[in-house]
Amino acid sequence: MAAKDSKSLRAALPGIVRILRRFAPQLSKQKTLLIASFVALMAEIFLHLLEPWPLKFIFDYILVPGFQPQSLGIPVLSGLGQFGLLTALTLGLVAIALLRATAAYFSVVGMALAASHVLTEIRSELYSHLQNLSLSFHHKAKTGDLITRVTSDIERLREVTVMAVLPLIAHSLTLVGMIFVMFWLHWELALIAVAVFPLFVFCTIRLTKRIRQVVRSQRQREGAMAATAAESIGAIKVVQALSLQNMLENSFSRHNRQSLKESAKAQRLAAGLERMVELLVGIATALVLWRGVQLVLKQAITPGDLLVFVNYLRIAFKPMRQLAKYTGQIAKATASGERILDVLDTVPDIRDVRGATEAPPLRGSVRFENVSFAYEPTNRILHNITVEVQPGQRIALVGPSGGGKSTLVSLLLRLYDPIEGQILVDGGDLRQYKLQSIRRQISVVLQDTILFAASVRDNIAYGCLGASDEAIEKAARLANAHDFIMALPEGYETVLGERGATLSGGQRQRISIARAAIRQAAIVILDEPTTGLDNENERAVNEALDRLTHKRTTFVVSHNLRAIEQADLIFYIENGRILEQGTHKQLLRFNGRYAAMYTCEKQVGSGEWVLGR
Ligand code: ADP
Repeated sequence: MAAKDSKSLRAALPGIVRILRRFAPQLSKQKTLLIASFVALMAEIFLHLLEPWPLKFIFDYILVPGFQPQSLGIPVLSGLGQFGLLTALTLGLVAIALLRATAAYFSVVGMALAASHVLTEIRSELYSHLQNLSLSFHHKAKTGDLITRVTSDIERLREVTVMAVLPLIAHSLTLVGMIFVMFWLHWELALIAVAVFPLFVFCTIRLTKRIRQVVRSQRQREGAMAATAAESIGAIKVVQALSLQNMLENSFSRHNRQSLKESAKAQRLAAGLERMVELLVGIATALVLWRGVQLVLKQAITPGDLLVFVNYLRIAFKPMRQLAKYTGQIAKATASGERILDVLDTVPDIRDVRGATEAPPLRGSVRFENVSFAYEPTNRILHNITVEVQPGQRIALVGPSGGGKSTLVSLLLRLYDPIEGQILVDGGDLRQYKLQSIRRQISVVLQDTILFAASVRDNIAYGCLGASDEAIEKAARLANAHDFIMALPEGYETVLGERGATLSGGQRQRISIARAAIRQAAIVILDEPTTGLDNENERAVNEALDRLTHKRTTFVVSHNLRAIEQADLIFYIENGRILEQGTHKQLLRFNGRYAAMYTCEKQVGSGEWVLGR
């Protein structure tokens, strides 16, 4: 049993040690503040220990018949007389209380400030780390859960550091100090007082372990709830269209009920632990009084000594009560801290290799050499892809959906790395360059345009941070967007709804083309940019795309026949393999899969490729 308990104590510690070690650099930045607060804390503890002493003097010297000031043995006080001494001692009491309050104030404020600084820094680090984690991580992670980590997990860590950990350190140190003084006063009484400690430690460790388990699973459940909420609210259109509300509500409320149960259980355990400590305090006080009074009667100690003892005992047990009260919170904070570390310690799969250099201004030649790729190790999506593109060439990637076209272009953006082969831009391996320096030189227009809840101007400027107003307007004109932007209530300053909700699909797409255009990048990727647009919008977007891609190396993934016919080179991709390649005319003459697809598409009109599925 004992072995099991010590193991559980050890099991709880690594979490805290791991958190402290990981955040040591941030903590050391607050060194001065932390040291000053610690000094104030030590002063507070010393004054706390001093508190019962004026009372002892009053009991032992003033309240005894035949008061003799000399018996005090302190020259300054001996000359005061009874009334003077009483006044001095009571004033001393006030002075101690005042100084202790001041010291406590500075230690609490100082530590709270330090904790806030540290955690604000950690939050920024966490946010920027999340932004840089690879897509493969984000595809697997749940958005709501990640948001909980950035917001409430950090907040909990801050709250608990200030509200639980700091008082706990203070109280524990006070406890150590008091035990020293008690043993110095009378070892036998001190032994009786500390006799209940092992019992206390035993109970606390047992209950703490259980509280920690309950809290951890409660926290995970909260993450799951946030994920469900974020997912369903993010896709509310689909949820309502498919009438999934009930199903989602059920799953949410199941988690919610379970979380309530766990929270009640944790509270029950913590409350039980607290009551038990109170009982132990009662027992210890009774034992000390029982033996102490006998000692006083035998004149082995003075009544004042006994008073100091009982006083210390009550103060000494306070940290224990606090320990019991805050165990749950500390366990919660440890769980939160570990959840934050789990994210921070995830290394992005895609990052700059050691010695990566800034990419030079690209001309735009691209070469895929025997590139293979898989999202999951067992399931290859691309097999031995070799593609050679000259600067300024327009490439169309066609084929049945799910064939791997989008995957291919995301490799060029280095959202993922190939598992075999290499991708060269202007003759240099993509991986030898700094990630940002490559991505900056590639413009992207996707089917699902993402606009941010910011002004139109800013949304365009995100393509090239710091762009001038003229450059933004030029890009908007190129994208056929200037006229409709000017017709918006506040022109370029109009703030868009979340995800650009206030604009039509075609308008959103043209803003995203302006965003791509402002980069003036040598390489342009268009992934189904006109899908879902009506004819009129499609014409405007096509015009904008023609201008955007003029004399730039362009990769188009599209079902748009016009875009495909105009391409300099067409690659027909199916099941992750390039089955045919050539110009439109060559491929029609070849009369293979592309030709079949094209003919079929021409008959059906616009829409999904249907053959080859
Ligand atoms: P296309 O663009 O030709 O329609 P994609 O490149 O989107 O094809 O997808 C190719 C294959 O990769 C599909 O089978 C798809 O299910 C799979 N796939 C796409 N994205 C992911 C992902 N993030 N994780 C796992 N599999 C994926």
